[in-house]
Formats: sequence, C-alpha cells, structure tokens
Amino acid sequence: MNEQRILLWYRNDLRLHDHEPLHQALQTKAQVIPCYCFDDRLFHTTSFGFPKTGAFRAKFLLESVADLRENVRSRGSNLLVRRGLPENVIPTLAKELDITTVYFHQEVTSEEVAVESALKNALSEIGITVQTFWGSTLYHPDDLPFNLLKIPELFTNFRKQVEKKSTIYPPFPTPKRLPSLPSVEVGELPQLADFGLESPIFDERAVLPFQGGETAGLARLNDYFWKKDCLKVYKQTRNGMLGSDYSSKFSPWLALGCLSPRFIYEQVQQYEQEQIKNDSTYWLVFELIWRDFFRFICAKHGNRIFRPSGLQGIPIPWKEDWDRFTLWQQGKTGFPLIDANMRELAATGFMSNRGRQNVASFLTKNLGINWQIGAEWFESLLIDYDVCSNWGNWNYTAGVGNDARGFRYFNIQKQSKDYDPQGYYVKHWLPELNSLPAAKVHQPWTLTSAEQKQFGVRLGVDYPNPVVDLMESVKANEKVYNAALNHR
Ligand SMILES: Cc1cc2nc3c(=O)[nH]c(=O)nc-3n(C[C@H](O)[C@H](O)[C@H](O)COP(=O)(O)OP(=O)(O)OC[C@H]3O[C@@H](n4cnc5c(N)ncnc54)[C@H](O)[C@@H]3O)c2cc1C
Repeated sequence: MNEQRILLWYRNDLRLHDHEPLHQALQTKAQVIPCYCFDDRLFHTTSFGFPKTGAFRAKFLLESVADLRENVRSRGSNLLVRRGLPENVIPTLAKELDITTVYFHQEVTSEEVAVESALKNALSEIGITVQTFWGSTLYHPDDLPFNLLKIPELFTNFRKQVEKKSTIYPPFPTPKRLPSLPSVEVGELPQLADFGLESPIFDERAVLPFQGGETAGLARLNDYFWKKDCLKVYKQTRNGMLGSDYSSKFSPWLALGCLSPRFIYEQVQQYEQEQIKNDSTYWLVFELIWRDFFRFICAKHGNRIFRPSGLQGIPIPWKEDWDRFTLWQQGKTGFPLIDANMRELAATGFMSNRGRQNVASFLTKNLGINWQIGAEWFESLLIDYDVCSNWGNWNYTAGVGNDARGFRYFNIQKQSKDYDPQGYYVKHWLPELNSLPAAKVHQPWTLTSAEQKQFGVRLGVDYPNPVVDLMESVKANEKVYNAALNHR
C-alpha cells in the first residue's frame, strides 16, 4: 500500500476551525483519520481524593467529542473514538491502519507531556513518525520576543513586550470537506455511567446551561458579541457574579479547545471595525493574554507550579484542616460571599472570576489551608478547568506565584459591598438570607437576637456563625507568610 495516512490525535483541541494539525494534514493530500481517545487516568482521583474529572466537566467533554464527531461526519469523514491509554491505543490503531505519521497539538504540563513522550516512544518503535503543533494560545511561541525559558515572571512585563513586538496570526481556515475513512471500526461514544459518573442535575440558578462542543461555543460567541452586543461594555460588567452576560463565559470552550483564542481575537477585530473599538474590546484580549501568560509560565517552570511552595518557592507551612476545608467546600463558613460562591460551584461547575479570587484568598489568607487542596477541588468541579489557568491563578492568589507584591489578601467585607451591594448575588445562592436587608446580608453575625427573630434567621441554626475573625485570621497568616519568606 503506498497511500500516505495521517492519524490526527485530538486532545484539548476539539474543533475544526483554526486547527493547524488538521489544516497541514489536509495540505499533504494524505488520507486524514481523526481520532479521540478517552484517557482513563482523567477519571481517577486527585492526590487529595476528589474525582479528577467531575460530572460537570465529563458531561461537557462528552458533548464536545460528540459535536466534533457530528461536524467531522457532516464533512464526509468520521471521528474514531477509543478509550484507554493513548500511548497504547494510538500505536495499536496506527499499526492497524498503516499510518505513516501521527499529528497532534502539544501540551505543556507534566501529565500531558508524559503521555506525549510515552506515545512518541511507542510510535518510534514501530517506525511511525510524529508531528506536533502549538495551538492553544493567542501568541505562538515562535513569535514571542523571548525564548520560552526567558518568559518574564511578571504578567505586565510579558504583556507589554508581546503587545509591542509580537503578532497574533490569523486562524487557519475551517475545512469544508474531509477525506472519507478507510474501513475501520469507528467506536461508540462512552456515556457518563461508563466513568462511574451520574448526569448532573441542571440547576436553574446557573449562569448558563453550558453545552459542550465547537457548535455551542461558536453560538455563544455569536450571542455575546453580535446578538447581545455585550462586548462593548465588558470592562464594566466583567466583575459581576450574577447572570449569563457579565462576562463572556468562553472559558469552558477555550479549555477543551472548542473555541480557539485566535478566532476570538479575529472576531474582536471585526467587532472593532463594525461596531465599536473601546477599552472593553481591548480588555477581553487583555484577559486572553493572561491565559497565554499562565500557559507559557507553565511551559517554562514545569512541575514547580504544582508544588506547595509554588513558583516562588516560599515554604509556607500550610494547614491541612479538613474540618474547616469542608466548611469552605460546602459553603458553610458563615461569610455569605464565600458560601454563595462555593455553593454555586458545587451546584453548577462554574464560578465567576471575582468569586474565584475571593474564595481562594479566603482559603489561603484567612484559613491558612494548603492551596493545593483548593486547586484540586476546583480541578474536580470546574467545567472550564484548565491546568495552567487553574494552578497558575491558585499560585498567584495563595501568594506563591508570579506576584511581586508580597502578602496580599481580599478583604471579604469590602469585596461583598463593592461587588454585591444589594446582596442579590448572595441571596440567589443562600435563600436562607432572603429576608435580610442589604445592610445586614453580608454580615449576618451582627444580627441581634431580636433581629434574628424579626428576619427569621437563627445564627448557628439557619445560617452558620463565622468560622474565623476576618482581620485576626489575616494577621496571623501574614505572620506565617513573612516567617516563611525569611526561610527561603
Ligand atoms: C483561583 C482561580 C482559579 C481559576 N481557574 C481557572 C480554570 O481552571 N480555567 C480557566 O479557564 N480559568 C480559570 N481562572 C480564571 C478566570 O476566573 C476564568 O477564566 C473566568 O472566570 C472564566 O469566565 P469567562 O470566560 O466569562 O471570563 P472573561 O472575563 O469573559 O474572560 C475571557 C477569557 O479570558 C481568560 N481569562 C480571564 N481571566 C483569566 C485569568 N485570571 N487567568 C487566565 N485566563 C483568564 C479566560 O480564558 C476567559 O474565558 C481561575 C481564576 C482563579 C482566581
């Protein structure tokens, strides 16, 4: 047989638009065979014992793979679906199909890179070559003004230099037709139950009924930018917590690669030409540069991002207080802003950026609890879990990442009043506080006995007493932090 065959291994790049491996494979005129392998390891538990991929993200992933299969089918091909370890499954498939080269997008973090290396070894033993591509960021590493190992540690330095010296390439075109498959078993899509997971019940209070896949991701973009015209006010609304449109909600689709950041950038440019160019249109790109930054920082530092002492190597003696962690996890700390956000996460798999910053600060700066446990809880629950964004942001918020400003914390009371002045957000998730006036809703512990009776909220019964004193706990943890700094 002399026909060239390329196996296209899909990973966190579940799309047809702006997909370089697909585009390049089609240029070769070889037969292109797309494939997705559900990696069993993703369904094991994290080091602290949470499901590594909880039901929200697993559902989103299954929907995304199903959508990709649909889109590939409608173009005359099909998506092969397998389950197992990619480094075993792909070489077996490649041998069976007389594949010459395997194309895929490379990742940067340890577990993903280990799979790549094992796969490359297995393929090279059977004489099959590999071609890898970079496709997850706005900026391409080849076009950065510095070597990956010289990425500036501070975001602002990174951003200023890339904005000045680098270009964002246009997206690769979406193919209209794909070559048909040779005779092969295409494979059934697994169900949630196959991974021991139950279908999550949709909570009507959720910001969006997130639906996985490129089709739904493109529809959300169309909705947010073009139909609802939200982009023009993004900078003013993005710190909200309530409703579908305070921010783009692109993150779940970006995390699985159903949306490409370069495509979003191109759409922003079009919006700037056709609608309006202002600080909001810039700010969405600014946030996408944060996403790039964390990915490049992970590429630079390897496993350091996962260590308790973080990128800065600060040996903070973190606590593993499971009783208090459980209060945080279940939204029972007695601080409404924290509790509402943690309950939203548990009920829907999503939380706003404002919420994430506050709950992460509370866990680390008020409770002094090991941030890795929080990061793993997020990993388990978040629909938009992205290894670099999650662990990078946790490093940052815990005070061990790329932030030169030392011990910083969120003042939970001030944040509550600034971002939820009427208490609408906390009441949305904590109906037991519905009857409280705005002046009391963020500090129920100040209710007198008479007020508790008046509003029907019994402290310690209907809503918990605060687990710590906000200011005292921050001061105590600042001391621990400063002592650790001196031991570096
Ligand atoms: C502790 C913590 C953990 C986080 N974990 C994740 C995660 O696992 N996955 C994830 O995608 N984001 C994570 N973030 C970043 C941010 O909270 C989410 O990207 C954002 O809330 C997603 O909502 P959106 O798409 O509406 O964001 P928008 O405000 O509409 O922003 C547009 C896009 O910019 C990117 N972005 C925005 N803020 C950040 C940021 N701080 N860091 C990196 N990228 C950003 C995202 O891709 C986002 O979709 C985390 C933040 C914190 C503080």
